[in-house]
Parts: sequence; C-alpha cells; structure tokens
Amino acid sequence: MPQIQRVTVWNEYRHEKTNDRVREIYPDGIHEAIAGPLRQQGFQVRTATLDDPLHGLPPAVLDQTDVLIWWGHAAHEEVSDDVVRAVVRRVWNGMGLVVLHSAHFSKVFKTLMGTSCDLKWREAGERERIWVVDPSHPIAAGLGECIVLEHEEMYGEHFDIPAPDELVFASWFEGGEIFRSGCAYHRGRGRVFYFRPGHETYPTYHQEDVQRVIANAVSWVGQAAGAAPVYGNHQPAERLSR
Ligand code: ZN
Repeated sequence: MPQIQRVTVWNEYRHEKTNDRVREIYPDGIHEAIAGPLRQQGFQVRTATLDDPLHGLPPAVLDQTDVLIWWGHAAHEEVSDDVVRAVVRRVWNGMGLVVLHSAHFSKVFKTLMGTSCDLKWREAGERERIWVVDPSHPIAAGLGECIVLEHEEMYGEHFDIPAPDELVFASWFEGGEIFRSGCAYHRGRGRVFYFRPGHETYPTYHQEDVQRVIANAVSWVGQAAGAAPVYGNHQPAERLSR
C-alpha cells in the first residue's frame, strides 16, 4: 500500500477578498477549491495562505508536507525570501511541488528553474485546448485526448523555462498561440510539475478533468525520493590499488 500523501495547498488568497467575480467562483478561496477534490480522493490535505504567519509554511508544516501546491499572482514579491529558500531546500530534499497558472512567476518556481519564466498573455476569455502530448505519462492517466476549457486566459510561447524533462501537455488557444502547459522536472531528489490553467476569474478548478490532472500530478511529484546523496570530499568506495 502506498503511503497516504500529505498535501499542503498554498494560495496567495488576495483576489478572492477584493474581486466580487473571483469570490463568486471561489467563495472559500482557490485553495479550498483545489483541496476539496483532493480530500475526496483520500489525500491528507491542509491549506496555507500568504497572510498567515510565515505564509502558513513554518518548518513544522514543510517537514510534514510530501507535496506542496502553489497558486500566486499579484503578490509574489511579498513572499519572504527565507520561506522561498526553505521551500526550495525541501524540494531538493524530496518534497513534490505542483506549480499552477500565474505561479510561473513565483519566486519558488523561478528559483528552481533559473530562468525568467516570462511568457505572452492575454485576458480575452478564449477557448483553450490542452492536448495530451505524452499519453504514457502518469499525469495524463484517465484523460481523453484533450481538455477543453471554454474560457481561459491565454498564455503563449515563448515560455522562458528550461526544456522540461517531460512534457505532458501542450495548449492551443483560440487566438492562435500555443504553450507548453504541462511541464515536469526533476530537481535534486524532488519532482516539480507546472500546470498552466487556472486564471482566477474563470471556474477552471471546478472542472473535473482539471481536478484529475492536479490529483495525478500530486501522486507523481509525491513519489518517495531515493537515498540522500552524499556530497563533498569522499573516501573511496572500493579499495584503491595505489
Ligand atoms: Zn491569470
């Protein structure tokens, strides 16, 4: 039996407090909309938000988190560098990370990628088709050939990320742009998955196939990490002949 994964859903949680449209779609916050379906699937889920002390991510919480999900947009700069360092270290040490939508610009994701993570965007409520480009990947399990979102924000190439270790999804938008929308990475002993959709003024996280991708991603990035590598000056593992 695989161990039950302990998930922390982190949300900036600002738009829901100031924008009526967003509050209408996510009355309990985007974090609860993401956490609810995961709990139903048997994951052990807690939530944390920017305005909690230490952004809700003190060492005791991070230490007990197998998978962290991150949604942020307008307040990336308010996230403390100490918390960013602690999250990045946890990923290197084996914690899984699922980065959603506008968190492409979060300090955590930019630090792990080492690039600008910039992209094109347009808010016109256009149709998005998220095509599965790796049907053998566990994150695509149970999906059809593509997910259709009737109304989403457009993100377009070029997306300034390192080439993904595994590309699972690619999006097409009504306006003609394309985008690498499901990107999997290995960082140290940890796994990272970036999943594109989820603009706050559309009910994207209520859509079942989107919830399925997030649950699959949690399972994939939450796989137990291998033994901790030893670095630095090293005694020979075999006897040297001279
Ligand atoms: Zn957005």
